[in-house]
Amino acid sequence: MARALIDDCFAHHPERLSAAQALELLRSRVGPVVARETVPLVEAHGRILAEPLISPRDVPGFDNVAVDGFAFAHADLAAAAPTRLALIEGRAAAGHPFAGRLPAGAALRVLTGAPMPEGADCALMQEDVELDGDAVVIPPGVKLGANRRRAGEDVRAGQVALEPGIRLRPQDVGVAATFGRDRLEVFRPLEVALVSTGDELCEPGAPLGPGETYDANRSILFGLLQGLGCRVTDLGIVPDRADAVARTMREAGAGHDAVITSGGASRGDEDHVVRAVDRLGQLHFWQIAVKPGRPLAFGQLGRAVFVGLPGNPVAAVVCFLRFARPLLTALGGGRWPEPHAFLVPADFAMKKKPDRREYLRARLITGPDGRTWVQRIEREGSGILTSLTEADGLVELPEDLRRVDPGDPVEFVPFSELGVLG
Ligand code: AMP
Ligand code: MG
Repeated sequence: MARALIDDCFAHHPERLSAAQALELLRSRVGPVVARETVPLVEAHGRILAEPLISPRDVPGFDNVAVDGFAFAHADLAAAAPTRLALIEGRAAAGHPFAGRLPAGAALRVLTGAPMPEGADCALMQEDVELDGDAVVIPPGVKLGANRRRAGEDVRAGQVALEPGIRLRPQDVGVAATFGRDRLEVFRPLEVALVSTGDELCEPGAPLGPGETYDANRSILFGLLQGLGCRVTDLGIVPDRADAVARTMREAGAGHDAVITSGGASRGDEDHVVRAVDRLGQLHFWQIAVKPGRPLAFGQLGRAVFVGLPGNPVAAVVCFLRFARPLLTALGGGRWPEPHAFLVPADFAMKKKPDRREYLRARLITGPDGRTWVQRIEREGSGILTSLTEADGLVELPEDLRRVDPGDPVEFVPFSELGVLG
């Protein structure tokens, strides 16, 4: 069942949280807020499954033949010598079972996908047998059950093939089809409002005024949200004016499950977003010991969850991937994502402050030794967006680490593990 968020679910006491504590707090406090709906299979791709997918029957439904050739009974074969079997009239093909029963000492012509004829338990490819008039000669050494696909070897009747909370990939939808399902129960997409804030921001396509920069965050976040299966409402750029920000935040909170902003989320003079959320709903700053980061703002605007991301594009992306993405996934009914990290030797050296987790933009290279190494992208300012386009993923350096030396194994998380796909 979709559940409402508890009031002020982002309230917490500690001054500063580790990344793991922050993720655990989010994980324990949010669940699906969206209703379920039933959709045809073709519309189920990329959606989050809301039901356990249980097989109503064995798949495959019957023992069948895996080759084009001949079927026979293992018991008829000589242990160490070729066996001559009489070829009986007829054949079995996919969709056309053999009507009778195979008599002892006989073989039947069969095609791939045909139900294994009654009385037979193996099959051999036509290339592997010798045809001799109205008989076939089977070489010695055939195993019992050779080229037989067993009923239920893929899925047994009653088995849960897919758990609720997974994002349906094409192969998952295919499994539902093998169960005869033409519809699946999925979660309704999360409705997310997306806002950029800042007087300096200009819409791409428009001429730049003095001191202005193009809004990059909204395009990036739009793509990341779509990749999560969210339905995004683009609320554009709001200027740094208290009334305009409050109006947009009210509108965003009313009709959506979540509101994502970038910029204006510090405590500076022009940071109206957080003030508006504070006034209209509940607001909490989380000091998370990560770099790049800054306080991340979490809150509620009516029934909508609010996440205020930093304005600097790189910080906005990293904070989105590490914190907003799992939160939104859970709100949308998905299982909490645990991205896999791969240990890869570092092709760099660096010193690191202890007590905080650091995310480095990183690229994979093939070293002269033929192995995969990971390089840190040198240009690391959090406004340098091309550092992200040069990267293949993030290196995650744990809190207690103080230095990295060349060759040290470091944890590399590919962008694909973070849902960043083309
Ligand atoms: P703020 O968090 O609003 O103080 O912004 C921090 C920095 O990020 C400033 O240099 C902003 O110009 C920049 N910034 C904020 N929002 C965006 C955006 N949507 N696209 C590109 N840069 C941005
Ligand atoms: Mg700003």
